[in-house]
Amino acid sequence: MSIYLGIDIGASTVKLGLFEPKQGAIGKRLDRPSSASEGPDATVDVIKTATSELLAANELQFQDLKAIGACCPAPIDASGMCVYPTNIDPSWQGVNIAQKLSGALQLPAFLLNDGDAAAYREYRIREAQNRASSVMAQFITGTGLGGALIINGKIWSAPAVSAELGHICIHSSENADLCGCGARGCVETRASLLGLRNMVKHRQAKGNVPEALQGEPMEVAKTLRRLGQMDDPLSDVVAIWQEYFTSLGIAARNLINTIGCDLIVISGGAQEKEKMASEGAYQRFKQDAIAWIRQELDHSFPHLTQTRVEWSIDRLPDSAAYGAAQYASVTGNSKS
Ligand SMILES: [Zn+2]
Repeated sequence: MSIYLGIDIGASTVKLGLFEPKQGAIGKRLDRPSSASEGPDATVDVIKTATSELLAANELQFQDLKAIGACCPAPIDASGMCVYPTNIDPSWQGVNIAQKLSGALQLPAFLLNDGDAAAYREYRIREAQNRASSVMAQFITGTGLGGALIINGKIWSAPAVSAELGHICIHSSENADLCGCGARGCVETRASLLGLRNMVKHRQAKGNVPEALQGEPMEVAKTLRRLGQMDDPLSDVVAIWQEYFTSLGIAARNLINTIGCDLIVISGGAQEKEKMASEGAYQRFKQDAIAWIRQELDHSFPHLTQTRVEWSIDRLPDSAAYGAAQYASVTGNSKS
């Protein structure tokens, strides 16, 4: 058996899992506080200890591991260096994390951006089901809006940046909301938790919002997923989600018009299923979402109607960790 270690390094948590090319994700997984704010060496120490624990829990030894596939929430260059620490501690800037992991665990190590790792996994699952696409764009929602492009099975990246699809401009007015990147009107200012906050704020400023949308905007934004997936959601709540998915549709249209994509995948925590939501309500929420996105594509060039728009089909909790491990299994073997 060839077993690969997958690691998803986040600002607060590091998640570890094991991957075997024929079986997929195997065995027990674990997560630990990442200590990222204490610098990369502290996190590498955490990973070293956690790897021993993970192997023990799965009755495996270090020599059973073939390579490491890791990812973190920052632009990564081809050598495995953290180019700019966007969503992790400033002390990570310019540090070659792949080299550090390789040195600490005495294994070949590959490092990806976390969005790229999650999209790579999504692509490979679809490929296994004969549903792959030649140009797949994935929008990954969370606090912000990440993204990735997989072109002919390969992760698209320039020397120091991945496909940051959240910064596609959808609103060029000088009054458009300011984005974390410094520009105005990026799709992230609508289709993300921050986007939900912005829309709540604007509606509150106009006055006359229902009670459910009153309160501190970010706190209200965090309730919107639940409110949107109720059996009979408020019309104001539906309107916010319509703006959210229409914005994603505009960004998708711009992207398809610019580079051409045959598959758009929507994934991420901002619109995933709420625990308490009924299956029927969640299905309606998803159908509306896809229809609002499609509406933006379908009244553009006719050829855009060929592009599939789909929800993520990856059901694993730590998809980025397993995506990175799968990448290591493919890339490591193709080099050897
Ligand atoms: Zn931006």
